Amino acid sequence: MNANYTPLSEIPAIHGSLQRTFRRGVTKPLSWRRRQLLQLARFVKENADALAECLYHDLGKPKQEVMMLEVRSSVQRILSAAENFEKWAQPNLVNPSQPWQQGWNPRVEKSPKGVVLIISPWNFPVLLTMIPLCGAIAAGCCALIKPSELTPTVSAFLAKSLSKYLDLNAYTFVLGEIPEMTAVLELRWDHISYTGNSRVARIIAAAAAKHLTPVTLELGGKSPVIVDSTADLLISVKRILWSKLNAAGQICVASDYVLVQKSIMPEFLEACKEVLATFFPGIGGALKSDSYSRIVSDLHFKRLKGLLVETNGKTVVGGNWNEQQRQIEPTIVVDVEPGDALMNQEIFGPILPVIAVEDINEAIEYLNTRNDSPLVIYIFSQNEENKKKIIANTTSGAVAINDTFMQVAIEELPFGGVGESGHGRIFGKRTFDNFVYERSITDTPYGDEEVLAGRYPPYQEECPEI
Ligand code: NAD
Repeated sequence: MNANYTPLSEIPAIHGSLQRTFRRGVTKPLSWRRRQLLQLARFVKENADALAECLYHDLGKPKQEVMMLEVRSSVQRILSAAENFEKWAQPNLVNPSQPWQQGWNPRVEKSPKGVVLIISPWNFPVLLTMIPLCGAIAAGCCALIKPSELTPTVSAFLAKSLSKYLDLNAYTFVLGEIPEMTAVLELRWDHISYTGNSRVARIIAAAAAKHLTPVTLELGGKSPVIVDSTADLLISVKRILWSKLNAAGQICVASDYVLVQKSIMPEFLEACKEVLATFFPGIGGALKSDSYSRIVSDLHFKRLKGLLVETNGKTVVGGNWNEQQRQIEPTIVVDVEPGDALMNQEIFGPILPVIAVEDINEAIEYLNTRNDSPLVIYIFSQNEENKKKIIANTTSGAVAINDTFMQVAIEELPFGGVGESGHGRIFGKRTFDNFVYERSITDTPYGDEEVLAGRYPPYQEECPEI
């Protein structure tokens, strides 16, 4: 067993200790929550370089990607929660429609759910731990965090270093793999927030159901891109390839495959070659570049290599790999049939199937036949009718037009999936909302006794008028 992993026998005691902290009311005062949130932001800021080193070690992530998408985004979102959570936590006063209920001071309080479990993935192990954790802190909950074993350096660093900034009695970690997760899932949590794949999501949802625990499932899937003949090709391709090659395509909202209108297919492929040459100039291209991540594990590398071997499509760009570095070249595959290996699973790597379709109607038909309700649909078009038609006739967690990832950049937009891509919404107040429940409160004055007198037995023979 890995020496860093949490002993199985300790897991129930950790859970019990978090429950005692919550019951003591430690995490509830707003001033305490604010302090923990500021400490969380301080942790990310002060450890930015160390986190970048860990991420380089585990994923080969270029420092600029870490600073942009892990460090800066985390700090900004934590500080935004610290600034706004007192507003989110305010009770909503209710104005009853019945005049005789006016004096009861009816309100909805946002009560912390209790002790929550946060399971974070490996692809953005900092940001996707910080977002739910800051929601749980803002809500006044205690939390157990289970980071991914696939980024062991980051996970161990988070577990060790965060305890110097946060109250260890309220926020703590379990490190490990399936046995540790299984032990954690046997316990009763007041909410589970899981970010990861839909296979494990089913295991988590089943375990949660045993305790009637509510869950937020932030999953992935095959997010398609539709490009019609009115798109600005060079800009579109730059934006599509950025989303496919950032973190080497290991992003839940990465462009998974592209449906291109047949009439512009040759120009689209030419633009791909042109953009790749600008992203990764010089001999060796991406495989020699400092701006290109590794594949997270041998298993995922083998899976991606397998897809390239199994596909019946034709590789027109890339197709090489470096096993030692665990890197796969940016690869574009055409003539991919619907049943192809590349179309049977989320690719989660730098391989892009580009499929020709006659028109937008065929693209919509293609998506709807797959019936996999992706996290996002990307549309590249300057035709307003086409945009409207795609939105009206498809299902997805989000739609982003003429860019990739930007739906995630706006904190005020809800983020989450539908169907296979998950359920529940996060970001800003919505993350906070996951960890509170609405508690209805009334306070009926004794002086209202006269108004209420008719409800007591013995009942009148004649019912009061309704
Ligand atoms: P992962 O490998 O980190 O696995 C998630 C967790 O499941 C780990 O903690 C692991 O220990 C646990 N696990 C694995 N098998 C288990 C089992 N049999 N029983 C109990 N626990 C088990 O994450 P991943 O799934 O490889 O991450 C990639 C996926 O996450 C992709 O599908 C991606 O789209 C999705 N994702 C979604 C979002 C989002 O916000 N929607 C963000 C990032 C990633």
